[in-house]
This record gives sequence, C-alpha cells and structure tokens, in this order.
Amino acid sequence: MAEVGTAAVASWVEIDGDAFAHNTSVLRGMLLPGCRLGGVIKGDAYGHGLRVCLPVLHPLLDVIHVVTAQDALWIRAWERAHDVAPRPILVIGVLSPDEVVTCAREDVAVVVADAGFAAHARAAQAAGVTVGVHVHLDTGLSREGFLPEDLEAGLAWLDGVGGAVRVDGVMMHFANVEDVTEQAWARQQLERFLEGERVLRALLSAAGRPATLVRHTAASAAAMVLAPSHGDVVRAGISLYGLWPSRETRIGVRLVHGTVPSLRPALAWRVPIQAVKSVPVGTPVGYGCTWVAARPTQLAVLPVGYFDGYPRALSNQGHVLVAGARCPVVGRVMMNHLVVDVTDAPAVGPGDVATLVGRDGAEAISADALATRAGTIHYELVTRIAAHVPRILLPPSGTAGDGGAGHGPEGST
Ligand SMILES: *Cc1c(COP(=O)(O)O)cnc(C)c1O
Repeated sequence: MAEVGTAAVASWVEIDGDAFAHNTSVLRGMLLPGCRLGGVIKGDAYGHGLRVCLPVLHPLLDVIHVVTAQDALWIRAWERAHDVAPRPILVIGVLSPDEVVTCAREDVAVVVADAGFAAHARAAQAAGVTVGVHVHLDTGLSREGFLPEDLEAGLAWLDGVGGAVRVDGVMMHFANVEDVTEQAWARQQLERFLEGERVLRALLSAAGRPATLVRHTAASAAAMVLAPSHGDVVRAGISLYGLWPSRETRIGVRLVHGTVPSLRPALAWRVPIQAVKSVPVGTPVGYGCTWVAARPTQLAVLPVGYFDGYPRALSNQGHVLVAGARCPVVGRVMMNHLVVDVTDAPAVGPGDVATLVGRDGAEAISADALATRAGTIHYELVTRIAAHVPRILLPPSGTAGDGGAGHGPEGST
C-alpha cells in the first residue's frame, strides 16, 4: 500500500480509463459540427488524479484547460517525456507575472480577466516572449472577467506591449445552466457575451491587431443542453468523469436531445475492512455513542475517515457496499475510521474490500447520491478525496477483472 510519511494509507481510488473514452464520445455526439472538445482537469482532475488520468485523457481531448501553471507545465513535461504532440493548453486560473512568462515559453495560453494583467504583459515584454491570451468576459457570474463596459479601459495597456501579447480567444462562464431547465439567464449571458465580443473585436481592429478569436463559453451543462453556447470549443469538466452536472441537466438533455445517453463514472473508492466484530443489543458505536445496536449486530471497522475526505456529515447517514450489499454507516465518521453495520451482508472478514463510491456487484453508490446525503455536491465530494489516497488506473476492459470490488493497489503504479 502507498505511504504517507511512514503511515500506511488504507483506501484507494480506482480509475476506469475506458470510462473517459465512453464519456468523451457521448459529449462529442452532442456538440455542433466543428465544435472542439476541451477538457477541464483542474482540482487534480476533479480528484481523480491528474497524473493517472492524463495519459488516458490527453489523446481524447482537443484542448486542455487547467487552473494552475504547475499543472500546465507538468503536462508539457509529460508530453516531452512521452514524445507526444503538444495539445493546446489554456490556464483559466490566476497567475503571477513570472508564471505568465514561463507559460509563454511553453506555448501555454493564459486568461486575461482584469486590468491587473498589465503587469504580466510588461513582464512578457521584458522577457522577450509572446503570450497567447484569452479575454474573459464576466457576463453574469460575477466571478473573474471584464464587464463588457469595462473592456476598453481594462485593456488600455495592450497599446504599449506590442507583440508580447497576442489575443487568441474570448470566453465566459455560465452561472446557472445546471441549476435550471429554463435557460433565461444563460441566454442573457450569451447576449452580454456577444456584446462584449463586438467591443473586443473593435478594440483589436482599432489597434491593428488580428481579431480571429477562439470563442468558448460552455462547461458541461451548456455543452449538453444549450447548443448556441458551443462556439469553437467547449470546456467540459464533470461530465468527462462520467458524472452529470445535475438532475436538471439530465432533464434538459431529454428535452433537447430526446434521449438521455449514459455517462460512465470513472472513479471508484475502496477500502479493505480492518476488523469485524459482533456486538450485543445496546452497544453504542463511535464518538458520542450516537448509534446504539438495536439487535445483535455485526460491525465492520473501515480504516478511512474525514482525513481521507469521507465527509463527517455522513455520520449515521452514509452507506458502504460490502460483498455487494448496501450497509449503513453507524455512529460518527471519525478522522481515520468509520464503522458500518454488516449484519445483513454475506459473511465478511478483515481484508475484504468495501466500496465507498462505485459499483460492487449489482449495487452502486454514486458520488452524486453520497454527496446529496452529505449536504454537498459530487464536485466537492470527489475533489476532496485526500491527495494522499492513491489513484490507480485499472487495466483496460478485456484484460482483467470485472470492474467490481476486489482490485487492490498492489502491483499498480
Ligand atoms: C470548472 C470550470 C468548467 C467545467 O465545469 P463543469 O461543470 O465541471 O463541466 C468550465 N469552465 C470554467 C471556467 C470552469 O471554472
């Protein structure tokens, strides 16, 4: 098992690489002709593990979107090490001037979201590099980006930096496409985008700069339900990993496409049972004695807890699959442990593998359902699986296994 310092880490995350091929093909099937598929691999590939997922995702994506310069540079290094043709990469997060220079040297494009980029542009100029930039318009999310009316003043520095900055694209991000089935606000955002884009193009031509811009607005939900948002490329995140943005998006897809294709979750989270014990009626379990056995009970202790990213909010709320049976989490989730009631599961013992998220036999626990029980969303649940939990790429289907529980981290990278 993997090590953190000297401590053994018991749980692991399995990644089904075949799921990425399936999900990207589902997404491509929903895009207008000519629209490219970009993938968002921020948050350590939504908690799936960038290093494990990139070799599978890289050939499946036309553009790669990251939030940090470190991730972009790591991808460039990986491409070189594996003699793989570089993909267009766009850093959508905030960067320091030095990082912008480094990105320019690695042919990584960056986002300009406010007037403060003047300092970054001057750094590029001083370093003698050209950085490709995409201008972010804030059309109604009120996060980063220029309000269309602030563009002219916010980009005034463009005049002084000559060829150090090349404007390659224009983008925006939607606020609520996945929260609704009626896209009134998104359509208003798109109108604001068109207005901002017109202003930007006018500024660029007045400055004698080319105004051929890559246009991108859609994350997963818009890519699936709002064709007018497609532009030249979409930035799909959660759906790549086989998770629906929301229930509303699923309804939207049925309305728009007539059918709902299946996405295949790429992630499973498993842990071997540490101990099994039988306790009599009246025995309390865990801190605070919040659960008390109402029958003679078989308990399984799992060496995983909130330190590993299993939400404490799942105390007396979550379920875990053991030997294909759905078993309730009893008592409080602890830092390094949780306890499940396995009385109704087939006979199990220490070392048998429990499934926290994923499929085991006929049963499955979705990240979505678990997150809902924890009072959060699957985006948060998967990205909070702790970095010390090993991510393991399963062998491609047809070579081994049945996709169920029982794969361990032994012998994997
Ligand atoms: C996270 C993010 C995405 C991807 O969103 P999903 O809902 O996961 O598809 C796209 N664009 C931007 C700017 C983002 O921050």
